[in-house]
Amino acid sequence: MANVLICPKCGQELNDITRYCPYCGFNLSIEESQNNRRDTNIYAIVGFVLALTGDFLMVLAGLILCAIGINKANREGYDLKGLALAGVIIAPIKLFLIIIFTILYLGLFFSL
Ligand SMILES: [Zn+2]
Repeated sequence: MANVLICPKCGQELNDITRYCPYCGFNLSIEESQNNRRDTNIYAIVGFVLALTGDFLMVLAGLILCAIGINKANREGYDLKGLALAGVIIAPIKLFLIIIFTILYLGLFFSL
């Protein structure tokens, strides 16, 4: 038994090799490629790794990359939105801690 597709525009059942709906002329290849496109969110991956492992500037870069990753996930259907969100949460915490420890370290240094 062949796969049966349903035309998203007119709802007719279609043969799976059809590129255009014979009933309404809807271009199924465009619809299919849009629905199946789940690009790997390289921004989220690189941003998260930088946020987790980097020093101050790398964490800052990771924060920006994760923000881009969220934007890409929302607008262009990229995957790994959760990872990008995690990076956006982790990065400011790390930046804050780095600043605090730097101030503490400098305070200790100058008090000696
Ligand atoms: Zn149709």
